[in-house]
Amino acid sequence: MDENLQIKNLTRVGKTTAARLKNLGLETVEDLIYYFPFRYDDFSNLKKISELQPNEPVTVRAKIQLINARKSFRTRKFITEALVGDETGTLKVVWFNQPYLSKVLKSGDEIFLSGKIEENRFEMLSPDYEKATRTEVSGNYNTARIVPVYHLTDGVTQKQLRFLLSQVMPLMRQIREFLPAEILAKNNFLQLSDAIVNAHFPENYQMIERARRRLKFDELFLIQLAILQFRGKLLTNKAPQIAFLEKQTRDFVATLPFQLTNAQKKCSWEIIQDTGREKPMNRLLEGDVGSGKTVVVSLAILNAALNGYKTVLMAPTEILAHQHYLSFRKFFQKQNFHIALLAAGKREFDGEKQTKNEMLKKLENAEADLIIGTHALIQEKVKIKDLGLVIVDEQHRFGVEQRKALLARDSKKILMPHFLSMTATPIPRSLVLALYGDLELSIINEMPKGRKQIQTNVVFEDKRFDAYRFIHKQIEEGRQAFVICPLIDPSDKLGLKSVVEEHKKLADEIFPDLKIGLMHGRLKAKEKDEVMRKFKNKEFDILVSTSVIEVGIDVPNSTIMMIEGADRFGLAQLHQFRGRVGRGEYQSYCFLFSNNNSPLTKKRLGFMETCKDGFALSEKDLELRGPGEVYGTRQSGLPDLKIASLADVEIMKLAQSDARFAIEKNLLSGDLQQVLNKTRVSMHFE
Ligand code: ADP
Ligand code: MG
Repeated sequence: MDENLQIKNLTRVGKTTAARLKNLGLETVEDLIYYFPFRYDDFSNLKKISELQPNEPVTVRAKIQLINARKSFRTRKFITEALVGDETGTLKVVWFNQPYLSKVLKSGDEIFLSGKIEENRFEMLSPDYEKATRTEVSGNYNTARIVPVYHLTDGVTQKQLRFLLSQVMPLMRQIREFLPAEILAKNNFLQLSDAIVNAHFPENYQMIERARRRLKFDELFLIQLAILQFRGKLLTNKAPQIAFLEKQTRDFVATLPFQLTNAQKKCSWEIIQDTGREKPMNRLLEGDVGSGKTVVVSLAILNAALNGYKTVLMAPTEILAHQHYLSFRKFFQKQNFHIALLAAGKREFDGEKQTKNEMLKKLENAEADLIIGTHALIQEKVKIKDLGLVIVDEQHRFGVEQRKALLARDSKKILMPHFLSMTATPIPRSLVLALYGDLELSIINEMPKGRKQIQTNVVFEDKRFDAYRFIHKQIEEGRQAFVICPLIDPSDKLGLKSVVEEHKKLADEIFPDLKIGLMHGRLKAKEKDEVMRKFKNKEFDILVSTSVIEVGIDVPNSTIMMIEGADRFGLAQLHQFRGRVGRGEYQSYCFLFSNNNSPLTKKRLGFMETCKDGFALSEKDLELRGPGEVYGTRQSGLPDLKIASLADVEIMKLAQSDARFAIEKNLLSGDLQQVLNKTRVSMHFE
C-alpha cells in the first residue's frame, strides 16, 4: 500500500463514499492520513455498570441480554432498545433511527458502549458501540479509548472515518522521518510516524499533546523553510535603485483632488525608501477598505516610471484589474505614462484595444510604464523589460511559483523587481511577523476625512420584514442593494445552493417587482464581469452573491449591504462586505441578519454597529473566537494550516528559528528537500 493510493481503492469504499470523502478534500491515502481530528472524546474511562454516574463520559463493557427494534407509533421513528449487563448490574440502552442495529448486535454479544448516563433515568441514549470480540491487534477505534472526532460531511460518519484510518495504520507506521536528527533531538520531538499514529489514535492525552506539537511544528517549519529558501534566492539578486524624485512627487501630490492623510504619507515614504535601496523590497501594505491604498502605491509607481522602470500590478479579478486601469489612467493623466491592461478577456493600451501579439510586442519593447492585469499576465508568458516593481492587490493565492514566473521576465538584466502586496485584511502585526519573519509592514490606520458612516444594524428574525420594507424604499429612490449569503452546506463549497435559494426567495416572494441578479464562484470570469457590468448599469436592483463579492467592487449607487447568516462570518470579513457600500454620495446601510440569538453572537455582531475600524474589529474577533476561526478562511490570505493555527505563536517562533538553523547548518537532507518540494506553499506575501 502506498500513500498515493486512492481512497476509492480501499476496502469498503464504494463510489458514493469516495465522492463524499472528496467533499472533505480526501482523495488519496495521504490526504486521509493528514486529515486530523479537531478534538477527542475520552472513552478510555472504563467503568462497571454499578459505578456509573450521570453525565460522565464513560465506556462500559457489557453483554447484550435483550435487543429489540420497533417503530414508534407516535414519532414514526425506529427505536432500538437493549438491556445490557456486566457482573455488577444491568443498564438500558436506546438508539434512534438505526434499524440495522438489531441485525448487527445480537443478544449474547459482548460490546463496548461509550456515552453518558442520563440525568434522571439509568439509561444511555445513542452511545457509540463496538463489539468487544475484536482481537488485540485490530483493537477498538470507537470506544474504550480516547477516540478522535473529525469534521464530517453529509453521509460520512465518525465510525467510517475511524475505520478507514485504522485500515491505513500500517502505512502511518511506515512514514519516513524527514526532520534532521539535530532538530528532533533538540526539541525532544516524537518520530513522525509516532506523531501521526497518536494524532489519530492516541495512547493518552500526553501523547496527543506531543503528537500535535510535532505535527504543528512540521507544518510551520516547512512554510518557514520555503520562505527562507525563496528569499535566499531572491536576495542573491539586486533590485533597481529607484531614486526618489522629490519635486515631481510633490507636484503630482498637488494635483490630487484631496490631501493625503498622515497615514498615507507615512506608508508612501516607507515604500519609497525601500525602493530606493538595492535590496529587493518585500513589503505588505495593509489598509481598511477605502483607506486609500491606491494613491499610496501610485507614488511608488510614479517614481519607478520617472526612473525608467516598469511596474506590474496584479489584481485577483478582471473587474478589479479594469477598475485599477481606469483609476490609474485618471491619476496619471498629466504624466503621459503609458498604461496597459491585460486580462484574459481584455487587452488595452492607453485606451486602445490590442491583439495579443501587439500587446506582447509593446511590453517587450518596454512601451508601457504600468501594466495592470490578472493571472493572464503569467499565463500569456508576458515578458516585461525593465521591470522594477511588482504590486499585488488582494491576491491571496499568489504562490512562490507564480511569483518566480513574473520575476523571471527580465531576461537581459538580473535585477529583481521590488515587491509590494496590499490587502484590506487587517492582520495584526504580531501575526504577520510570526508567520513571515522579515516581511516589512506598512499600515494605513486612518481614514480620509469626511467619510459618511455606514449605518449598521443587527436584524433578528422578528424585524426582517421591516428591513425588507426599508430596502424596497431605498430601491424605489433609485438605490441598489447587495445581499450576501453564507456557506451553509459544507459540501456546497462555492455556496451555489444558498445563493440560488436566496435568489429564488427574493425574486418570487419578497421583491417580485424588482430585478435581481446572481453572482457566485462557479461563474466564469467573463460571466462574473457581465453580472457586475449589469449591476453597475442598474439592470439589477439587487445582487445576490456569495462572498466572492468581497474584493474591491465599486458601485457607488449601491447603498445597502444585507448579509444573511451574519454570525457565520468573521467581523473583519463583515467589515469588508460593508466596505462595498458607502462609496458614493448617499447615506448607506448595512443589515446583519442572524437567527442565532446566543449572547456571544449578539455581542460579536453588536460590535459591528458601533465600531467602524477594521483593525479593532479583527482584534475583537481574535479575542472572542481565536485566530483559528478568524483566519481559518481562504479569504484571509494566510496559508491553509491543517493542524497548526495562528495562535501557536510559540511553535511558530521555534519553527522560524529552527528553519534558519537548518539552513545555516546545511541540514537540508534529501528527504527533507523532497518533502519541501512537495509542500506547495501557496502564500500571500513571500
Ligand atoms: P482602498 O484602500 O480600498 O483601495 P482606494 O485607494 O480605492 O481605497 O480609495 C478609496 C477612495 O478614497 C478613492 O475614491 C480615492 O480617490 C479616495 N481617497 C484616497 N485617499 C484620500 C484622501 N486622503 N482624502 C480623500 N479621499 C481619498
Ligand atoms: Mg483597493
